Amino acid sequence: MKPFTFEAHIPRTVFGSGTLDKIPEEIERLGAQRVLLVTENTDRQRALADKVKGLLGDKVVGIWTIALAAIGLQLHEGSCTDAVMHTPEEVTLKALEQAKSVNADCYVSLGGGSTIGLGKALTIRTGGKHLAVPTTYAGSEATPVLGETVNKVKTTRSDPKILPNTIVYDVDLTLSLPQQLTYTSGINAMAHCVEALWSVGNNPVIDGIACSGIQDLASALRKLKDTPNDMDARGKATSGAFVAGVCLAHVPMAIHHKLCHTLGGSFGLPHSETHTVILPHAIAYNAKAAPEAMEKIKRALGTDKDAATGVYDLEKELGTVTSLKELGMKKEDLEKAAEIACKAQYPNPEPLEKGKLLQLLENAWEGKPPQSV
Ligand code: NAD
Repeated sequence: MKPFTFEAHIPRTVFGSGTLDKIPEEIERLGAQRVLLVTENTDRQRALADKVKGLLGDKVVGIWTIALAAIGLQLHEGSCTDAVMHTPEEVTLKALEQAKSVNADCYVSLGGGSTIGLGKALTIRTGGKHLAVPTTYAGSEATPVLGETVNKVKTTRSDPKILPNTIVYDVDLTLSLPQQLTYTSGINAMAHCVEALWSVGNNPVIDGIACSGIQDLASALRKLKDTPNDMDARGKATSGAFVAGVCLAHVPMAIHHKLCHTLGGSFGLPHSETHTVILPHAIAYNAKAAPEAMEKIKRALGTDKDAATGVYDLEKELGTVTSLKELGMKKEDLEKAAEIACKAQYPNPEPLEKGKLLQLLENAWEGKPPQSV
């Protein structure tokens, strides 16, 4: 018998197709009068903001689009949009100026994890309400966690006040996700479920939803490869991402998230792609120390191979990125990454050792099949 303590904090969640139309009644429910829409400076997201403005009418007091050039920042290499990962403080402070100037009492964030992160950063600074409308599978909308970058150093904090009040999932919004982002974002979500299964904080509620999340995400991604507009599969991927976010919110993550946090925060690697490359290797690292979790991952994936190979094979089938090399990581930086990831010790089934972490990173850099180290 494993004792546990569990207290659930999940935002009110509205899920479906065409659910954007429900935003006015959800805003009413929050008692908000002055809404600032927060989104990215892309044609797609601006059009989405205009649509929501049309629904909310006079309640919208402004639209904040993240425009990096205006604050002297460059787009990160390879990026074609103004989404800014890791919530840089410069961006937040500019948005905060607008929020104060229009006296906003509520933020509606429309976008992926980067945009929702900005919504959280504004909420925690002003006490306003937050309704999140996710357009990727990252899961940030379901967590009380905020990672922010100040002077290029990323720090993460958790506070119940950071948790959005309401999530509106409109599955229609995910139809525009490019194929590769669909897969890498879906595997990012799967990683939350995988780590929940071997987390020190695991409990029967989280265990059950983590398994269903892996199963739904794997089957949905496979289906979306052939039929990207299949609404049932899009729905499964989105609800899988929701439960993955709930896992992330409720139990401590371990080696996988720590490595990805290091690679993203200190070496600027892209979020969902980095999760995709690392996941099979993180599973292989813990294979011997977490046999029960391995069985559950295997079963949820429906593979007759081991859990790590099951995820790697899925990635190969989808044609995702599988090496850190492809993401622009320099081989000579791997040792530094292993050192940073090892510094702050945290619970992980297999003890963390710099040499083994380096071996894991070297395998991931090459894109080799996962192997125990
Ligand atoms: P993102 O928000 O940076 O978006 C990635 C890309 O997808 C952008 O180019 C964006 O324009 C595009 N995009 C988003 N929705 C789209 C759609 N429907 N159609 C087409 N393109 C679309 O990436 P992300 O992976 O969603 O989020 C990553 C960020 O979120 C990171 O900063 C990460 O740290 C943070 N995050 C935080 C938590 C948390 O709990 N605090 C959880 C997950 C992720």
